[in-house]
Amino acid sequence: MIRRLPESVVSRIAAGEVVIGPFSVVKELVENSIDAGANSIEIELRNGGKSYIKVKDNGHGMSKDELIIAVKEHTTSKIEKFEDIYKLSTYGFRGEALSAIARVSRLIITSSSGVESHRLEIIGGRVKSIEEYPHSRGTTIEVYDLFFNVPARRKFLKSAISEQRMVTEIVEKFILSTPQISILYKNEQEIIYHAKTGTLKERFTLVFPEVKEFTEMKGTYVSGIISSPDYYRKNRTGQIFFVQGRYVVDKMLYSVFETGYGEAITTGRHPYGVIFINIPPEKVDVNVHPQKLEVKFSNPKEIYSDIIRTIREAIKTFISKKIYIINEHSFKESQKDYITKNTFKSQQIFQSTKNESEENKYVEQFLLNANQKNIEYKNNLLIIKKRYVLFEGEDGIYIMDFHAAHERILYEELLKNFEKKVDSLNLIVPIKIQAGKSFKELINEKLPDFTSLGFEIKIEKNEILVLSVPRFIKLSLVPEIIQEAVNELQVSEKSSKELRHIIADKACKAAVKTGYDITFEEAQKLIKTVFDRKLLTCPHGRPLFLKITYTEIDKFFERT
Ligand code: ADP
Ligand code: MG
Repeated sequence: MIRRLPESVVSRIAAGEVVIGPFSVVKELVENSIDAGANSIEIELRNGGKSYIKVKDNGHGMSKDELIIAVKEHTTSKIEKFEDIYKLSTYGFRGEALSAIARVSRLIITSSSGVESHRLEIIGGRVKSIEEYPHSRGTTIEVYDLFFNVPARRKFLKSAISEQRMVTEIVEKFILSTPQISILYKNEQEIIYHAKTGTLKERFTLVFPEVKEFTEMKGTYVSGIISSPDYYRKNRTGQIFFVQGRYVVDKMLYSVFETGYGEAITTGRHPYGVIFINIPPEKVDVNVHPQKLEVKFSNPKEIYSDIIRTIREAIKTFISKKIYIINEHSFKESQKDYITKNTFKSQQIFQSTKNESEENKYVEQFLLNANQKNIEYKNNLLIIKKRYVLFEGEDGIYIMDFHAAHERILYEELLKNFEKKVDSLNLIVPIKIQAGKSFKELINEKLPDFTSLGFEIKIEKNEILVLSVPRFIKLSLVPEIIQEAVNELQVSEKSSKELRHIIADKACKAAVKTGYDITFEEAQKLIKTVFDRKLLTCPHGRPLFLKITYTEIDKFFERT
């Protein structure tokens, strides 16, 4: 039964403008169709929805009386009293959408409850006619000329192409969230999506055909599909969350999602995921935002850790599928020659994390896996491509990027040196660096910082003179380091602490050139230092290790 909500209830439900443009109309209408129990929904647009929007469903439909009341303000069949919103299984409950759409368009609703069948016409909120009209069980809603009577808002609609794109984005969310419902979506007679009833997997492939490797996952509160870390976008449009079936945009969820991938992704890479979070209704507040796009959990930690755990578990499947082959012949022939037929891909150990405490979390787990005492890095050590050292551990095979490791060690040392009073070396012949106007200005502005870091700098007409430098920095690197530091300063304001990091960073990067030879003794020393100091990433957050556990190897060779 559709009824008008008492004023006391209306005032307690966060209300908002539900009709923003064609996309929000489509969203509201499709939600209503789903709420009506439809398993087939058709969406059609003309002119990106600006001239015409149709949503047709085969749900339970409405009787004549229901039709009339449905388009009034705050009428809903979905709740009676405020508390009902906590055990809601429908999208709607505010009873706002139909009346709001009716007020700003020419609206035709044709509906059949299976017993009777009617057509209601409303223009700008006024009922024009209601008459018997044939329709199969279900409802068709047609919205003509959205905002025809609100020119100010009509003017703000974007081009048909943009409006249509926004509708498509909404439709994609429904395609992903309701595989059990067949969805046909057309614009100007062109079929954009025809999603037949199917599985989430099929829907995922339909919306993200570019993703070739993905897996389903299931935790306590969370389930869904995530892509292999090799498939990613440069933004987060491939990460879609539903809480209790509702699409939500929530910064925390994005970040929790990527924490789950941890070691497996680098900055700027955002893997795909369609994630459903379903929790007991009393633990979530859906009534926070009028667009219902944000949610509040009453037990966020529990949910976040479930997401992380479930993703961690799920991405293992990608890792163990990766193939790597060590050519046995060349292995014996020469320890320095190493052939991989395929990229050695495995658990990259631990992600870029500047956050110390977070890192120590990881460190412990890492050391549990790779108890340093048990690593025999003395004998079984292989240098690959003048870049990597391969060695055996108790629990698996490790590959260390020794440039990155070297960089990290140097970086730590430089930073430590900067923390003490910097011991400067006075130069008999100052180092001259050519400098333009803005370059000089930046140096001038940061002069006290440079001084405190042990660089004594004098600004001349067309150049700067470096009179003294920290003792622990290679002289030949000074111009490059200062140049790089200025480049960074040009991009954004930096504190002296940040400047210190930048200089340490540049200094160690410049000191470690790729392609240099490393002796076995040096490699051993490096591995030991890295393990002793519990270092996991290079100064830029790249991992130092790659590991394939023996379990993964056994799995690959089908020995388990
Ligand atoms: P709400 O969805 O919040 O209840 P709406 O304004 O969207 O509010 O819809 C008002 C009422 O109209 C709904 O509660 C429902 O009873 C009825 N209704 C709307 N669309 C449909 C539909 N497609 N099929 C059946 N009933 C519908
Ligand atoms: Mg609704």
